[in-house]
Formats: sequence, structure tokens, C-alpha cells
Amino acid sequence: MKRIAVLTSGGDAPGMNAAVRAVTRAALARGAEVFGVRNGYAGLLADAMEPLRARDVGGIVQHGGTVLGSARCPEFAEPSGRSAALRNLAARGIDGLVVIGGNGSQTGSATLAREGFAVVGVPSTIDNDVYGTDSSIGADTAVNITLEAIDRLRTTASSHSRAFAVETMGRDCGYIALMAGIAGGAEVIALPESEIAPAEVAKRLRAAYQRGKTHALVVIAEGARCGVKELMQHYAESRDSIGFELRVTRLGHVVRGGAPTAADRILATRLGSAAVETLAQGATACWSARRATRSSPRRLPRSPGARDRPMPRCSSSLA
Ligand code: ADP
Repeated sequence: MKRIAVLTSGGDAPGMNAAVRAVTRAALARGAEVFGVRNGYAGLLADAMEPLRARDVGGIVQHGGTVLGSARCPEFAEPSGRSAALRNLAARGIDGLVVIGGNGSQTGSATLAREGFAVVGVPSTIDNDVYGTDSSIGADTAVNITLEAIDRLRTTASSHSRAFAVETMGRDCGYIALMAGIAGGAEVIALPESEIAPAEVAKRLRAAYQRGKTHALVVIAEGARCGVKELMQHYAESRDSIGFELRVTRLGHVVRGGAPTAADRILATRLGSAAVETLAQGATACWSARRATRSSPRRLPRSPGARDRPMPRCSSSLA
């Protein structure tokens, strides 16, 4: 590994910058040259790449978004697009690529790897829907932003005896809604993986009202088929029997912005450096992943201070 390129692709996620920094510094530390590609796969096609030095990635670990830019590039899904990308990489003498992005981006990276180029993917999407890793970069920040919104809405809901339905992002995955809903004490959580009919939501809200609650929170994943629209329609027809007045807040892209949490910065640093290590070992079709042991009852350590818990491991798995 003499020269590697790094790009961020697809939907941006808080922590992408920390990953770019980790990839750059880990590669420089191994004596490799690093090129930053502008705007994802579009930059590979347009040959928009610049050398990255250690100082170029200084002061970005705390920033959301991506300094490299991101874009969607349908041309890359076509063989002709990928041929142009491979020509540009070869012309610059680049022999390895790190792709920081979500499901679509890693589908692209796997295709490029099958065509013979050394690629390692770093899962980065707030949706947390990438196969093979427990967590993707950005998901923790998105959960925390959703949670903050829930906490704020509860304050105003209590003052007016209202119910709020909060819709959060996540595409077809309910991870953000589930985690933020549990942490925020929601009455109801509606997910694509576990649908709940509007009539059942209304029933639970009515029961909460009858128990004397002054507020109620419903967290809805954007991918749920029984979503905000269906709930409002049902609610308009049965408002009198529910008790609460219902308001809706769609968080949208707000959950993707802002500074990454400590957990996302650390995950990005670990996965980014693991990606470089994997390329250096000569692997060609991998992604960097974090797998932790499941929570289970554990015996107490035999002696005080004895280590009984293995650290979560960052490793690379064959695609
Ligand atoms: P994300 O990575 O956030 O899931 P997208 O699904 O939009 O975002 O994918 C980002 C980019 O990955 C696309 O614009 C395209 O360039 C590339 N990509 C997606 N699917 C494929 C595919 N099947 N083959 C090759 N490249 C793909």
C-alpha cells in the first residue's frame, strides 16, 4: 500500500470527518500517501482528488457533515462509470480506496472490489442498517438529537396536556426511533419492523389520558407504513374519545446535523484506522466493523478489580 484514496458517499452522517481524519493519519503513519476525493463517487469519475496531509485533517474531529463533500452518483452504478473511476485511480497510482458511507455506498464499494480494486468500506449512516456491524458512524448522534427533541416536546406537552407524535429519520430501519423512544419514555413506538395500527396508538393514548397523564409521546420511524399521516387521519375521526390534543413534529434532516457525540467520534476513529490496517494487510474486499458481545448475566469477578468484560472489538470482515 503506497497510495490510498478516501471518500465520503451517500447521506452524510455526524462522525464522517472523524473517520476521514483517522484514515488519513493512520495511512500517513504507515508511510502511505493519501488522496481525498471530493463529493463521493462523483469525484472519482471527475478525477477530483487532492493530497491530504496531517494538517489538512486537523480541527475537524468535532464537526458534523463531511469536509470532503458527499453526493449521489447514479453513473457509478453503471459499468462505464466504474471504468472511468478505475482509470482515474490508476492514472494517479492509487492502489487502495476507503469508502465511508451507508448501504448504497457499500454496495458500490463491493462492486468495485469484485472488479479487482482493493477497497475497504467504513459503515457510516445514521440509519444503522449496514450488514455486519452493530453500529454505524452517526447513529448514536442521531439517537441523541431525537432524544433531545423528545425531552423538549414533553416539557411543552405537559403544560398543555397534549400528545406529540415525533417522526424521526432512519429510512427502512427503526433503530433511531426505537432507541430514542425507549430512552425518552415514549408511550408508543412505531417501527417498520414492528408496525402498530393507528387505532391501537389511539387506544394507548386514550388509556394514558385516563390514567391522568398530562403528556404522551409517540415516536414514529419514517419508514413505518402506519406513519404520521395515517395517525392524523385516524385521530381526526376519533379525537373526542382520545382526550389529548395531538400535535406532530417531523424532525427530518435535523437529526443528521450538528456535532458528533463522543461515541461516534471514537467509533469513527477505530473503524477508520482499522480500515487502513486492513488495506495494509493486503485484503481487498472488506468493511470495517464493530461487533460487541451480547449483554448477558455475568458472574462477579473473583477478586476486586479483576477484568471480567472483554472490550468490544473493531475488525474487518470479508465482504
Ligand atoms: P447511502 O450510502 O447513504 O445508502 P445511496 O443509497 O444514495 O446512499 O448510495 C450512494 C451512492 O452509492 C450512489 O449515488 C451510487 O453512486 C452508489 N451506489 C448505490 N448503489 C449502487 C450499486 N448497486 N452499484 C454501484 N454503486 C451504487
